[in-house]
Amino acid sequence: MREALGGPMPLERRATCADCAMCPASGGDASDDAVFFDPATACCTYMPTLWNFQVGALLADDSPEAAEGRRTVEARLAAGLAVGTLGCLPTPLYELAYRRIEGAFGRVPSMRCPHYLPDGGRCGVWRARESTCATWFCKHERGEVGKLFWERLHQLLRAAERAVAEWVVLELDPGDEVLASLHPGPGAVATSVLTPADFEGPRTPTERAQPWGRWAGRERDFFAEAHARVTRLRWRDVRRLGGVELQALERLARVAYERVRSSRLPARLTVGSFDFTPLPDGGALVTSYIATDPLRLSPMVLAALRFFDGRPVARARAASEAEDGVSLDSALVRRLADFGILVAPETPPIA
Ligand code: SF4
Ligand code: SF4
Repeated sequence: MREALGGPMPLERRATCADCAMCPASGGDASDDAVFFDPATACCTYMPTLWNFQVGALLADDSPEAAEGRRTVEARLAAGLAVGTLGCLPTPLYELAYRRIEGAFGRVPSMRCPHYLPDGGRCGVWRARESTCATWFCKHERGEVGKLFWERLHQLLRAAERAVAEWVVLELDPGDEVLASLHPGPGAVATSVLTPADFEGPRTPTERAQPWGRWAGRERDFFAEAHARVTRLRWRDVRRLGGVELQALERLARVAYERVRSSRLPARLTVGSFDFTPLPDGGALVTSYIATDPLRLSPMVLAALRFFDGRPVARARAASEAEDGVSLDSALVRRLADFGILVAPETPPIA
């Protein structure tokens, strides 16, 4: 990504995954935050895609610390559900549940990711996790500005992953039937009906061999070769494989990157829209751009919001000082703007 964006990745220190920021500390009080996750899942109520080259990378990692995670990949391969030349895709049953169960995110242990390791909630495929997992954070240093950057990066990486995985399939050429199954013809009927194989995986050797074409029986070699070929790619190669869509997404990711690296404030600010939970001290817990990242505002800061009515920021700060004796430093004002609590008046939303 340094090659694509021209600089280092922003750090999201507030998403403390090793000691999940969204899980109540043992014996702690969960009443203070807007959303809490179950420690049995944290935010990992998700079934990731493991693209073919990522499966290859994970199987190739024979370090002892990767062993437990590697076993979770082996289990997915052995089950054979939604496994093929593109890699391990989310199973149809999981996809259905994911779309239909409300309130499952971070809360339903049976929706836990197959690669979530119960000992302290480690990710078993961290070194080759897919783009959704690599770009999702519950909290952002730069609030909404950060979230929008990661969302753009996710779009870019998702397109890159797909393009690279499809290129691998073409390069390794499992045969026309496999290609046709990945790209159904115009006459193919899309169906939402699940079959027994969607629950139980392939039951016969023929069913198991079907997604592999001429690679049947050599699936591990396929993944190893996928990993070896993709490791040799530079970003400029990925850009070429992804075509114009990837180039457009790269440009938009760069725009979002510049924004997250910039500390410039709008000249004028007004109060945005947010949810508001009063706290006993007269302050409030304010939820603006995402439910998992509320801000606690003191009574003084809450009161000072009234000065931001679209007048220049410098005048709003001066009025707060003169009328309330409250000095609002520029870092605080920028934080309020990053979180969408203060917004530039009548500007279009960030793309
Ligand atoms: S990103 Fe997920 S695991 Fe990390 S701190 Fe947030 S909720 Fe916890
Ligand atoms: S792959 Fe890792 S980060 Fe992604 S959902 Fe699973 S355990 Fe969480």
